[in-house]
Formats: sequence, C-alpha cells, structure tokens
Amino acid sequence: MRRFLYRNLEGNRLLVGVAVALTLAQVFADLLTAFPLKWILDKVVNHQDPTLPMGNGLVSVFDQLGSRDGLQPGEQHTQLGVILFASTTFIALGLLTALLSYGQLFIATFVGQNLSAKIRTGLFGHLQRLPLAWHSRHRVGDLVQRLTSNVADIEKLVTDGLVDLLAGILTLTGIFAIMLSFNWQFTLLSMVVVPGLFFVVVSYTRNIKAATKRAAKIGGQVGDVATEDLTAITEVKAFTLEEREARHFGGLVRSQRQAGLRAGSLQAEFTPLVLVVVAISNVTVIGVGSFVATGHTFSLGPFTIAANSLTIGTLTVYLAYLKQLYQPMRNLSKLMNVASSAGSGAERIEQVLAEPTEVVDDVVGYTGPRRLHGDITFSDVAFGYREGQPVLTGVNLRVAAGKRVALVGLSGSGKTTMAKLIPRFYDVWSGEVRIDGLDTRSYPLAVLRDNVSLVLQDSVLFEGTIRDNIAIGRPDASDAEIVAAARQAHIHDTIAAMPDGYDSPVREGGKNFSGGQRQRLAIARAILRDSPILILDEPTANLDVEAESEVMHAIDTLIVGRTVLMISHRLSTLGHVDEIVVLQDGRIAERGTYAELKRSGGIFARLLAEQHRYNADVAEAAVSETTGDSDATALMPMPSNVTALGNGHRRGAAS
Ligand code: ADP
Repeated sequence: MRRFLYRNLEGNRLLVGVAVALTLAQVFADLLTAFPLKWILDKVVNHQDPTLPMGNGLVSVFDQLGSRDGLQPGEQHTQLGVILFASTTFIALGLLTALLSYGQLFIATFVGQNLSAKIRTGLFGHLQRLPLAWHSRHRVGDLVQRLTSNVADIEKLVTDGLVDLLAGILTLTGIFAIMLSFNWQFTLLSMVVVPGLFFVVVSYTRNIKAATKRAAKIGGQVGDVATEDLTAITEVKAFTLEEREARHFGGLVRSQRQAGLRAGSLQAEFTPLVLVVVAISNVTVIGVGSFVATGHTFSLGPFTIAANSLTIGTLTVYLAYLKQLYQPMRNLSKLMNVASSAGSGAERIEQVLAEPTEVVDDVVGYTGPRRLHGDITFSDVAFGYREGQPVLTGVNLRVAAGKRVALVGLSGSGKTTMAKLIPRFYDVWSGEVRIDGLDTRSYPLAVLRDNVSLVLQDSVLFEGTIRDNIAIGRPDASDAEIVAAARQAHIHDTIAAMPDGYDSPVREGGKNFSGGQRQRLAIARAILRDSPILILDEPTANLDVEAESEVMHAIDTLIVGRTVLMISHRLSTLGHVDEIVVLQDGRIAERGTYAELKRSGGIFARLLAEQHRYNADVAEAAVSETTGDSDATALMPMPSNVTALGNGHRRGAAS
C-alpha cells in the first residue's frame, strides 16, 4: 500500500511535503488557542503575568493602554495590556489556523484528485490492453468497481489522511507534551480515562468497520444484480421474470438494509459512549484541579499533587485539551476504516496492474510489411479457454490470399474460436496460426489486427457521430471516403435522410439504429478499413429477411478482393465460397466445395437436408416431386424460417 501510494504520488510528493508542513503549523497554532484564556484568568485571578519566550516585549506594547493601579509588586504588565494581548493573539491564531487549514485542505484535495486521475487513467489503459482471455474470466461490474469506488477509497485516504491522520497524531502528541510541561502528576490523573477511551474507540471502530464492509459487499451485489437485470431487460420481460427478479432484488435490498442498520446502530452507540468517558475525565480534572488550585494538596496513595501547583488558568487549558482529545482519536479511528478499504482497493487495483498486457506495437526486430496479403494457415492448432478443456484440436487449414472459406458446424463446434485466433485475440496452445507464412506471434499486434476486419453477429456502435463510427478503423479518412464506403455498404441513403446526416449522434450502444442499419454501418467501417482479411461471423443471424438481404448486398461489395472466412449457419447460401470447412467438436470433419460436400453425403449433406426440411419452397417442391439444386448458386438468403444452425446458444456462450 505504502509503495503503491509512493509510486503514484510521483510529481506530487513536494506538495505532500508542503501539506505536511502546513498541517504541522496548523496543529501548533490550534493548540496555542487554549492559552489566551489561561493568560487572562491567571492575570485577573492570580496576578500572574503570562510566561512566554520572547513574549514580554509583545505584551508591553499593549501595556500603555492600561492602568498600573492595583498591580501587585513583581507584576510587569497591566491587566488591560494582558487582556488585549490575549485577545489579539486569539484572533491572530484563529486567522492563522483558518488560513493554514484552507491551504492544507486545498492541497490535500488537489493531490487526491491528481492521484485518483492518475490511477484511474493508468488502470483503464491497462484494462484495455489486457488480453481477451483475461477479460473473459472477469466480470465487467467488478472491473468497473475497481475503476470507480476502489480508486475513490484511495483518494479518500490521501485527502483525509493528509488532514486527519497527521493532524490527529500531531494534536495528540502536542496535547500530551504541553500538559506534561505543566504538571506531570495532574496530567497522568487527567489521562486516567484514556485507556478506556482507547478501548471504546478501537473496539467500536473494528465492529463498525466489519459492519460497513458487509454493507458495502451487499451493496456491490445489489449493483451487480441491478446492472445484470437492466441490461437484460428485454429477456426479463420476454420470460416474464419481473416478479422473480424483483423478489431476488428485494431480498438483497433487505439484507443491505439490515447490514446498514447494524453499522448505523453501532455508530450511534459509539458517540454517546465516548462522551460519557470524556465527561468522567472532565469531572476528575475540574474536581481535583480546583481542589489543588484553591490551595489544597491532593494525595492518592503515593500519588501527590502539591497545593497551588496548578492555576485556574492552567485548568482551563486542561479542559480545553481534554475536549480536543476525543476528536483526533475519533478521526484516527475513522481513518483506520478508510485505510483498510483503501488498502484492499489498492490490492485489487494492483492485481489488475500486475497482469501482463498484450504488447500491441512492439515485436522486437519486426521489419516486415504493415500491409499483408492475407494468406492464412492453421497448422496443427490446439486451443481451449480453460486448461484441460480443449475447444480446437489438430486443426489444419489453409486459406490462400483472396479465397473465401466458410466455416460451418453445430453450435459450440469451435467456429468463432477459430476465427478469433486469426487476429490473435487468444494464443494457441500448440501449433501455429500463420499469415503470409509468418506465425501471428511474430507480428506486432497492431499490424496483425490492422489487417483483419470483423463483422460480427451484433455490431457495437460507439458514442459519437455516424461519421466517427464509420471512420473508427481509419480516423484519417476523408469525408468523401466515408461517404463512398457508406454508399457501398448501402447505408448512405438512410444516413442522408437523417436530420443531421453524417453528424447524427449515435446513442448508447447504437440503440437508435436498427439491427440491419448497425450491421451495414459495420460493413461501411470494414470497407473503409480495407483490410485484406475479413471475418464474417454470422453477420445476418439476428436480422429479418428484408434487413438480411440489404446486408447481404453490402457484404457482396465488401468481400471483393479479400481473404474471407465466413461463419454461417445458412448453408444454402454457401454456393459461392471456394471451400466449406465443417467443424465437429473442435476438429475439421469435412471439407470441400458445396457441390462436393453435398454429393458426398456426409455431415454437411445431412445438415443441409435438415435445413431443407423446413424450407417451404423445398417442401412444396418435394410434394410435386420436382428436384433442383438452384440454391447452390444463390447468394441471397434463405427464408427466415430456416433452422438456425449454430445460432442457438451463441448469445449465452459469448456473453
Ligand atoms: P461456435 O462458434 O461453433 O458456436 P464457439 O467457438 O463459440 O463455437 O465455442 C466453442 C466452445 O468454446 C463452446 O463450448 C463454448 O462454450 C466455448 N467458449 C467460447 N467462448 C468462450 C470463452 N470466452 N470462455 C470460455 N469458453 C468459451
């Protein structure tokens, strides 16, 4: 924790030093404010001049204003002089404390903000560079919490710590030192309650901490469940899960309330208990103190406080300090909470930061081209997401530059996984994925990924304008290029018809666009990006027939001149591809052209026949006993009632 803070405070360390110095000065000034009243009381009651190092001259300045009548022998200063001096000192100390406290709070906040901004930016950047394999093992809510509340806890420790921790410790030591300098016996007596106070503070602090931690944990769960439910609100409605989810959520909220109540009631007991303990010490000080100050000797066993060894003025200082004793103790105890949550926050952040990131730009010694031809080879590839559970085994496949290969197979057979290995979203367990003859691990990730475009089942649009969204893969594209890409993707007319055209805003996740429009925007993106390798992972799976045909037209333009790997469950649309590869349980089970596979009567032919059973045209044709192979050449999609092979659990698996 200390090292983490030290590292992240780089650039602000001098400011921390200034804040410490200001705090020191402020505590000192604050402690001195108990003295002016003592001076006045001692002067008025005991005819005693203030004893100040180098203070005599200062008091003398005010002496001229008062009369020397009634002064006892040995008195140097007039009463009015002392009163005026004490009042002036009081005001000066007050102003100084205020000023120092402003500077200290401001610097603490400034440093805290700098620190949290630095940690947050660093952590976010790191998260972005962590590999997908890592992300698939972590919940988004948990990561967001690390970015938000965990960072806030650390910030709080620095802002509060600089103020409360330091001021607390300094005040406590200062009070103790000044009291001791007056009368050590009396100081010990007045401190009798401190162990009790300490016990109350520590035990309550511990219990309150445990209770608030529990409340915070349940609070996190409440947040998680709410995020999950609201994200899946469509599914919740579709399955009429409102009641069930509300019950689940309600249960959690009840536990949260209980935990919050427990923390709150402990907190409520804590303050009065402390007040009682402080009252006991005040009674001791007032009782014994006045007894001694009025000329009596106090003895308790071997413990003796000599008569008149205390003045009434000194008593007021003790009382003022005893009152001040509790606040720093309390602040320190609160700070223990803050420190422990900041500690666990820092640990959670460091855990993430310790994970090795993908190195995007750097492969030592890479001097090859930045634009590739797009010749893809899978050579004996084995891969899985979890140890001991291979998803792909012994995969060998070559897709020559400019060729189109379709991956088909049942859901879960590993099609998407194979596609994800090309841009190296994951690293193979064994074997190699090569592009243009070179292992993908030999390319800088930036080069590799620049050469691969993906159009997925659901395309995500980012916040910004339509123009920004199309140009996302090539921010330097000119307006003319963006419009040309949109035209080719058959989306230009739709954009042009919008009130703000290309400047129309895209709302959160692209909610203000239909699925088909989002897909065509994604295709426009890919056209503009113009990478040699194109991966199409069922880009029309979630679309209706009309939207699908528009998207297919756009895809027709997109695929020209590229190496294409398309994953499709609409088998009858695959007549135009160069080769069809059938995956089964992570192995290549069959390959060949559409006609070959259909003829061979293997898995593909069976899948195809299965789909045909539900094709109304075919069913009708079968009734009239005509046969035909017309679907083999069509690029146009099947009617939407075709069995959605491979589309069944994808959403679940991918999320
Ligand atoms: P397909 O594209 O053929 O439907 P996938 O490649 O998506 O199949 O999935 C193959 C297998 O890998 C499935 O068993 C799936 O559950 C698993 N899988 C896919 N993605 C992940 C992931 N991120 N983490 C763990 N397992 C995954």
